[in-house]
Amino acid sequence: MTFRSTRCQASGGEVSFRQAIFTGLAPDGGLYHPTRQPDLRPLLARFDGRTAFQDMAQEMTVELLGEELDREAAGRVVRRAFTFWPELRPLTDAVSLLELFHGPTGAFKDFGAAFLASVMEEFLADQGQRAVVLVATSGDTGGAVARAFHGRRNVEVVILYPSGRVSPLQEKQLTTLGGNVTALEVRGSFDDCQRLVKEAFLDRRLRQGLRLTSANSINLGRLLPQAFYYVYAATRLPPPRRPLIFCVPSGNFGNLTAGVYAWQWGLPVELFLAATNVNDVVPEYLRTGVFQPRASRRTLSSAMDVGDPSNLERLMAVFRGRVEAMRALIRAASITDGETRDTIARVWTEHGVLVDPHTAVGVLAAQRLAPAEGAGRVVVLATAHPGKFPEVVREVTGAEPPLPDTLARLLPLPKQSLLLEPRLPELRRVLESRYG
Ligand SMILES: *Cc1c(COP(=O)(O)O)cnc(C)c1O
Repeated sequence: MTFRSTRCQASGGEVSFRQAIFTGLAPDGGLYHPTRQPDLRPLLARFDGRTAFQDMAQEMTVELLGEELDREAAGRVVRRAFTFWPELRPLTDAVSLLELFHGPTGAFKDFGAAFLASVMEEFLADQGQRAVVLVATSGDTGGAVARAFHGRRNVEVVILYPSGRVSPLQEKQLTTLGGNVTALEVRGSFDDCQRLVKEAFLDRRLRQGLRLTSANSINLGRLLPQAFYYVYAATRLPPPRRPLIFCVPSGNFGNLTAGVYAWQWGLPVELFLAATNVNDVVPEYLRTGVFQPRASRRTLSSAMDVGDPSNLERLMAVFRGRVEAMRALIRAASITDGETRDTIARVWTEHGVLVDPHTAVGVLAAQRLAPAEGAGRVVVLATAHPGKFPEVVREVTGAEPPLPDTLARLLPLPKQSLLLEPRLPELRRVLESRYG
């Protein structure tokens, strides 16, 4: 498989997977996107309810990236990455939850981060090289990346986060790992952190001395492995399995894009339901055909507070910019915070299941959008563990969601971070003194 920028109109400009993941953003500012879509139907037909997630992931990796990762390498990458897997939990006759929060940080981003870290380690080992991964985070993403890269050989990770603006638990996730993970506590905002990372990538002196790379959510190495769990879910559903419908709580639309890739490769998905909070630029685009990015608004489902979702560019590439084509496969709904609270409460009283605010947005959108006639089951992606949002879950249900063990263990560990003024020379000094 080869990849090309979404902004590259002509043919040419093709890069390998290895180049795409170490480059992150394409040089023209676009996102890497497959140049051709493989047909995985013969492979998918061999999977059934007994195929382990790791085996599916390995086979799909070989099929997609076999020119760069042979079966043995793909097996190593997948087994190192996926020490956890999805679980399908029926909620009602019509709705099942695909729980994607059994990884180390209790959110679906663990899947993409773990695969990216593992595949980077694999590629670096055979080149005998070392890379420095720079990430700016406003909270959750950094935690998943830090955890995924912790202990990986030949990779150093530097996380920049805004001082005093991440939750105490998020700060623990960033600052307690040590080893190859360095947390920089920036005296400034998240925007300052992002600007610093951008400046570092453009800084000639730094780029000459170090192999800098990113691991943010637009990285193809985080996106592709997210297709694996759509395939897995399809094999685990009790009959009737058709029509197959997925509902995806969405912010930057990476998760939904990965599902659409799985559909292009031959997974027989009837419909995708895109669930957003009041940051509804994509539902609006589907309704009006006009994409109008705007500043994001804060909601309870904060990881979905995105006003300019970057992966829409990939989705538009799939449908060649034709909104009618996108409408035939994707329906969207926007859910308010009030509705989110009601849904968390209702799912608890009716089914005895605690869901986090992101998943709740998905559950309500599924119930609102699923076609009544001939509906099979809607699979709602449960993107975060309810224990990560104890305040709202406790408030509306009266129940106490347990914090996952992997996070609870961090609480007593001491914070290790370096304070940093939000200026490039300061960041350069830290990077050069540690890794130069
Ligand atoms: C990041 C995130 C989302 C949104 O996923 P996208 O791929 O950005 O659309 C949804 N739920 C949770 C819990 C997240 O962390």
